[in-house]
Amino acid sequence: MESETSDLTAHSRCLNCGFEAPPGSEQWDQIEVPRLGEMTRCPDCGSTNVMSGR
Ligand SMILES: [Zn+2]
Repeated sequence: MESETSDLTAHSRCLNCGFEAPPGSEQWDQIEVPRLGEMTRCPDCGSTNVMSGR
């Protein structure tokens, strides 16, 4: 049983709305941006201001 929050599991977090999901998860939208390549986009608010956790 997990009695306290563990940050050992890597996750990415949307800095705009706080949405969290594992990096590379299908929960994230992947978009192609010219010059920047592939970026992770929040499915909740559509922001690309996502912090990648490792
Ligand atoms: Zn968001």
